[in-house]
Amino acid sequence: MNSATLLESSEAVLAQSEVLSRAPLADVLRWASDTFGDRAAIGTSFQGAGLVMIHHAVQAGLRLPVFTLDTGLLFPETLELSSRLERFFGCRIESVHPELSLDEQARDFGAGLWNTRPDTCCLLRKVEPLKRRLNSLSVWITGVRQEQSESRSGAGILERYLFDPIAERYILKLNPMAAWTRDAVWEYIHEHNIPYNPLHDKGYRSIGCGPCTRPSGDGGDERAGRWTGFEKTECGIHTFLPAAS
Ligand code: SF4
Repeated sequence: MNSATLLESSEAVLAQSEVLSRAPLADVLRWASDTFGDRAAIGTSFQGAGLVMIHHAVQAGLRLPVFTLDTGLLFPETLELSSRLERFFGCRIESVHPELSLDEQARDFGAGLWNTRPDTCCLLRKVEPLKRRLNSLSVWITGVRQEQSESRSGAGILERYLFDPIAERYILKLNPMAAWTRDAVWEYIHEHNIPYNPLHDKGYRSIGCGPCTRPSGDGGDERAGRWTGFEKTECGIHTFLPAAS
């Protein structure tokens, strides 16, 4: 199935998703690379699933671009990990930044926006930068797993979204790790000695920005340590795009 058909048809996406759900991870990534070239890219915040995907891509000789959203509020351990992963995988990891510096954000929206209006903070520092990066892509490859939380339990391998309603532009979201369990991810990481965020060994099961991430302990929702004290469970990068009909 060619790329234009997929971008134009939800039925075609469903059929391709069915095919991909039976394929090994490396084959799913190869399909994205072969079909879309550098218009397919891996977006990662260096959670376990992202590391497994990048490792499979590198082992398979795929040159899929890799990018991360650097909000300016990441833990020092996360920034250090990014450099370590570049060396380990031998690939560049592009940092995508918000338009506003933290000082400019404080000037325009008030200091500590993450404490007062975290949705606005995520919009400025995550969602809008991501949208800019997605503008040059046809496929966004994510590490979303169904097991992570209730809000992610319905994630499919391949999804089609209306990315820009005004321009009627669609994008494909590829979630090759959708059916992977947390145990399988970590077994793979340890088996292959892949560098990971040391905060995971301190009780942080899902790691985002410093001000909004707490250790979450064992059991239950893996993302329970994110935005504690708020109803918020997602930053918006996986929910801002309405599903296509
Ligand atoms: S996770 Fe917190 S600090 Fe990071 S962009 Fe969202 S609200 Fe701001």
